[in-house]
Amino acid sequence: MKKRVGVFVCACGTNIANVIDTEKVARAAQELPEVVYSTEYKYMCSDPGQDMIKNAIKEHDLEQVVIASCSPRMHEGTFRKAVEAGGINPYLFEMANIREQDSWVHKDRDKATRKAVDLVRMAVNKVVRNIPLQISTIPVTKKALIIGGGIAGMQAALDIAEAGHQVVLVEREASIGGKMAQLDKTFPTMDCSA
Ligand code: SF4
Repeated sequence: MKKRVGVFVCACGTNIANVIDTEKVARAAQELPEVVYSTEYKYMCSDPGQDMIKNAIKEHDLEQVVIASCSPRMHEGTFRKAVEAGGINPYLFEMANIREQDSWVHKDRDKATRKAVDLVRMAVNKVVRNIPLQISTIPVTKKALIIGGGIAGMQAALDIAEAGHQVVLVEREASIGGKMAQLDKTFPTMDCSA
């Protein structure tokens, strides 16, 4: 697979840029052998930010994308869609979290910037090893088999049944209850375990 990585470093207004020199991170990323394009922008998740990603993919023939910004919990979905709209498989994309894991938890600008460069380098090394994935839908029978009728198995069976699905509970012993059924009383309530 070709390795033509594009790196996009987000300033998040001042959220990241107050602590991290985002332009320096983008320049450092440009030095990595796999990186053919690297830039910095104020709000990467905004419409202009996403357009910047889509256009750069086409203009620079990018094959993989790294975005250094916030937590994947925040915008991984947004960026996967943007990368896909630009023509790249959405799994040939990685996020480096330089906000929650860096600018929000550090004060020293030099050290935080060096850490951001490291996080970007790690994401670049990861993304060039990613393989394109395809989303597929497989029909499933909404029925559960639980092996073992101890406390965990019994509770799981009850939870699934309460959610409206059929459950088959299999136990090799003559009765269910597992270890719990062999006890007399349990601490701290001293209730009868059976
Ligand atoms: S992508 Fe994340 S870090 Fe960048 S502006 Fe949006 S919320 Fe902030």
